[in-house]
Amino acid sequence: MITNKISVGELEAVKKLFDDCHNVVIVTHTSADGDAIGSALGLYEYLKKRGKSVKVVVPNYFPDFLRWMTDADKIISYNIHRKMVQTYVDYADLICVLDLNEPKRMEDLGDVVVKARAKKVMIDHHLNPDCFCDVTVSYPSASSASELVFRIIYGIGGLAHLTKAGAEDIYAGMCTDTGKFSFNSNDPDIFLIIAELLKKGIDKDKIVRNIYNNFTEGRFKLLGYVLYEKLKVVADKHAAYFSLTKDELSRFNYIKGDMEGVVNMPLEIKGVRMSISLREDTEKPRILVSVRSVDDFPANKVAEVFFNGGGHLNAAGGMLYCSMAEAIEITEKAINYQP
Ligand code: 5GP
Ligand code: MN
Repeated sequence: MITNKISVGELEAVKKLFDDCHNVVIVTHTSADGDAIGSALGLYEYLKKRGKSVKVVVPNYFPDFLRWMTDADKIISYNIHRKMVQTYVDYADLICVLDLNEPKRMEDLGDVVVKARAKKVMIDHHLNPDCFCDVTVSYPSASSASELVFRIIYGIGGLAHLTKAGAEDIYAGMCTDTGKFSFNSNDPDIFLIIAELLKKGIDKDKIVRNIYNNFTEGRFKLLGYVLYEKLKVVADKHAAYFSLTKDELSRFNYIKGDMEGVVNMPLEIKGVRMSISLREDTEKPRILVSVRSVDDFPANKVAEVFFNGGGHLNAAGGMLYCSMAEAIEITEKAINYQP
């Protein structure tokens, strides 16, 4: 039996929101990842099957390797369709906020969501949620927002309304946020949930191929360049980092998503406990930072203290507004940090 992780009170509150709504907008975080898109489209499938009018909105472009998902082409990017999104938000009676814990994680879209008159529900697994929604379902111990979407659908007796496409989306989200079930995935329930998703007829092996064997040739060459030329391993600090400027990215015909997961790779080096990636943003003048760690070394603390960010214990991120040389200096300091 799948245990009741989500409280009965929260399930009842969400059930009422789902029963009463007609026009739903589902939003997720900037630079959406597999869990963001998977949880959003999974919930979209369920609510659509229940006869609701549903729109999925993302703050900006999301990676090509997630576009195989059913109706991914119907996802609306706020940075391109601002007026259209505002209209959908104005007419919405429910906004579902997925895989994020504070409006800032939606950039400009955050303000639109906060000001909306619709009821709001947050479904998330990040620490310290900002409770700006009417109902907050926040379980940092969950593997993914996608797992929580499943638990809600299951908990309110809605499994019959979860389509095969919805099950594929949820599997994709759980799979990507756990590194193909290699971290954050010791909860036995996860495998009971996967069993339910398989009963919906999903081909989990094909989903993994769709996500992970779908990269560009540029990514492979860029990966070679990062590992051979750019990676700095600071063995005595058990840390590794690399940096990439916009010019370097463009040499490899970089498109969004090409660097997905690369920050995890240095953790495969014996003794390395923390890995940091510095990458110049291709849209705005800033450096995007990703931090990964193993065991109890807190990546989120490092992201908070040095990179204006936060996140989970072992996967966190942030941003720097400075030159790459300065960002490298900050990173060298971060590597010396003892929590
Ligand atoms: P990524 O490195 O994949 O961009 O982000 C990993 C995790 O770090 C995300 O799931 C999110 O929890 C967190 N994260 C990334 N960027 C930020 C940020 O700017 N602020 C906060 N608070 N968390 C972030
Ligand atoms: Mn997530």
